[in-house]
Amino acid sequence: MPKLPAKKIGATLLILFLLILGEIRLGEAQPENRPEYLPDEILVRFNDGVDKEAIDSIKMRLNGKIIRKFNLIPVLQIKIPADTVLSAIKFLRSLPEVQYAEPNYLRYLDAAPNDPRYTEMWGLNNTGQTGGASDADIDAPEAWDTLTGSPDMVVAVLDSGADLNHEDLAGNIWTNPGEISGNGIDDDDNGYIDDINGWDFARDDNDPSDTEPICGGHGTHTSGTIGARGNNGIGVTGVNWNIKIMPLKIFKRYFLILCSTSSSDIIDAIEYATMMGVRVSNNSYGGSSYSQAEYDAIRASKSLFVAAAGNGGLDGIGDDNDVTPEYPASYDLDNIISVAATNHNDIFASFSNYGTTSVDLSAPGVNILSTTPNDTYSFFDGTSMATPHVAGAVALLMGHDPALTNNEVKWRILKGTDYKALPVLTGGRLNVHNSLTLPPPQVTINVIPNGPTTVSRGETIIYTVTLHNASSYPNIVDASVVAVLPDGREFTLASRSLTVPGNITLSQNFSQKIPLGIAPGKYQLAGRVEMPFTSFDEDIELYTIEP
Ligand code: CA
Ligand code: CA
Ligand code: CA
Repeated sequence: MPKLPAKKIGATLLILFLLILGEIRLGEAQPENRPEYLPDEILVRFNDGVDKEAIDSIKMRLNGKIIRKFNLIPVLQIKIPADTVLSAIKFLRSLPEVQYAEPNYLRYLDAAPNDPRYTEMWGLNNTGQTGGASDADIDAPEAWDTLTGSPDMVVAVLDSGADLNHEDLAGNIWTNPGEISGNGIDDDDNGYIDDINGWDFARDDNDPSDTEPICGGHGTHTSGTIGARGNNGIGVTGVNWNIKIMPLKIFKRYFLILCSTSSSDIIDAIEYATMMGVRVSNNSYGGSSYSQAEYDAIRASKSLFVAAAGNGGLDGIGDDNDVTPEYPASYDLDNIISVAATNHNDIFASFSNYGTTSVDLSAPGVNILSTTPNDTYSFFDGTSMATPHVAGAVALLMGHDPALTNNEVKWRILKGTDYKALPVLTGGRLNVHNSLTLPPPQVTINVIPNGPTTVSRGETIIYTVTLHNASSYPNIVDASVVAVLPDGREFTLASRSLTVPGNITLSQNFSQKIPLGIAPGKYQLAGRVEMPFTSFDEDIELYTIEP
């Protein structure tokens, strides 16, 4: 026991020393003294059709070397002499061959560890055990009546890695079925040798263990919230008792004192997860700089990208992401879910960023108990801790019904929230049980002729369109009426996006003059209704136009 304090003092002195060293080394930095990008790398996307010769000549002028060509997006990662990033980008942006050029931005983790101690996991099931409000939780036990997770469901965790041997995590770590361990051969031909449990993109090796001393076990903690082994008599449980965690290590120690990742490592990990068919990823990190390459990669991935809204308020009050965005959470993409943090009273966390447009929902993120390396358990705070509750919920929904599309899953996650008047798009906090059991929206359309359906040219037809919402909640729909010609061509006669309140039928009359020049024959009048995240309904009436 006496060893511990001595070790702690030693560590504190070391960090102090490194901090002083870091101050000297870092130079230009963000408000928190964190550099914004790597000093000697850039990401460049050339326009389609620019040939190798042109690229080589540009590369020579930069004194640069291509160190990575991404497969997912046509972007080059180029190493250049230190501290020439801004001049290189200025030069590149002036060239007609270049679509975009940007620094290789650094991203930081969105968590801060607090005092480790053991009580209950209020975020999953709140009985007031930590002095908070009963039922200020995600209703995990209620959801577990339906499903406790699926061993076929894989969640990519882009983080500091995970403790692959943790007693409460090891059984839920993904293994690559196509790879033979330790034979030095890329057995599944995916470009990565012996990638048994994921990959370490930060140090380019096959060991995604959570061993970076300065990253504090962050990735083991987020992994445990998604899927620490449940019902095994040990420690904690994740939102999923059974799941496959794919640790994609992107964080490492930079500049001696910082735990950080870069755009290029993030893109590498997204590319890997996409290649391996992963449908959801957890992204508990961020930064203030917009990266077009990150945006392109997330869009190209076609998976649900659950991201932390950020902890802009470690100094007191969080940032409004609608005004000062946090990336990747704030990219305007349908496949991103941006997550803020609340405490055990459903009160918005003081450190959490917010945004009534750009942050989707909140989840438990204060005093969150989960796994940490070497069979330990710790309480952490952060939007980093809220995010894996949502990623875990996404995995539970996808495991329950693999046929759900990404849009449907996102719709369920957002629609299922418990409304708490929070400063986010839904105003609500995650409720995985609601999301799992929500009845799908039921909006139907009918086209009803008012008068004969055999008509002559020059006549005017009148018809009624009714929309019926059988759901108990409002649905936003796109409704349209389309004329389908005998040859299959279509003309939109009316279209409108509107909100239909729950359990309501809306009706409207329309009239349409039959043009004199139209050919006789059978015409369809089709009413169609579509919902952004869900279903489609169509009703067809046949009109005959007489010769
Ligand atoms: Ca491989
Ligand atoms: Ca192998
Ligand atoms: Ca357990």
